[in-house]
Amino acid sequence: MEFIQAVAELGISLSDNKVRLLNEYADLLEEKNQVLNLTRISREDFDTLQALDSLAIVKAIPTIAEAKVIDVGTGAGIPGVILKIVFPQWDITLLDSTRKKLTFLDEVIAKLRLKSIRTLHGRAEEIGRDPEYRQRFDIVTARAVTAMPSLSEWCLPLLKTGGKLVALKGETVEDELAKSEKGIQVLGGGRPKLISYDLPGTEIHRKIVLVEKIRTTPVAYPRASTIIKNAPL
Ligand code: SAM
Repeated sequence: MEFIQAVAELGISLSDNKVRLLNEYADLLEEKNQVLNLTRISREDFDTLQALDSLAIVKAIPTIAEAKVIDVGTGAGIPGVILKIVFPQWDITLLDSTRKKLTFLDEVIAKLRLKSIRTLHGRAEEIGRDPEYRQRFDIVTARAVTAMPSLSEWCLPLLKTGGKLVALKGETVEDELAKSEKGIQVLGGGRPKLISYDLPGTEIHRKIVLVEKIRTTPVAYPRASTIIKNAPL
């Protein structure tokens, strides 16, 4: 199935300009990947494994309204840059702990002339204690970052009450989700929803874990990185 048709099956219509920007981004990614080793996914797989996969976020949340979004562990900009191109009404912060990836993303932002998007260098669990970022976002996205018990503690503190964590996951998320349910509650999250689907035009199965924040996160969280890792909630 053609990419544009597959995206249309998600209920998204792409203007020529958005297609051009997606292609420019894929070209830059391909060019820099050879030097910087940013992603393992080849140019041929970009449409399905990165673009379509990112846009499947519409399975979990409405995308029409303006929203303050942070993409935790954005890497080479997935899903953050793709979401910015396709949903320009969103204000997006691209967070990663690896500086070289953010240098690449600063170049992407400048070359594509994207507005209301910026990079942020740091560890999510430290950024979540900074008053400038703590409980400031409507949406946190995370794809292929870490398992749910750590991911919840990294991400839920960043959300406003009423905000949503959208974790893009592979097929086998149930086990890590079960291990994170108590922690999610402690951190102020509601009952997680698991959304399963096939990427349109493919047989690739995906799952999204969607958690709404229903209460303020207690000040004790997020804890230090090693504690989160060694003593999950
Ligand atoms: N989301 C991208 C994707 O789907 O292609 C990148 C996934 S990559 C496997 C995980 C990213 O998380 C890396 O770029 C890494 O630097 C970043 N990362 C790891 N630990 C982090 C932390 N504590 N805070 C922020 N970013 C982190």
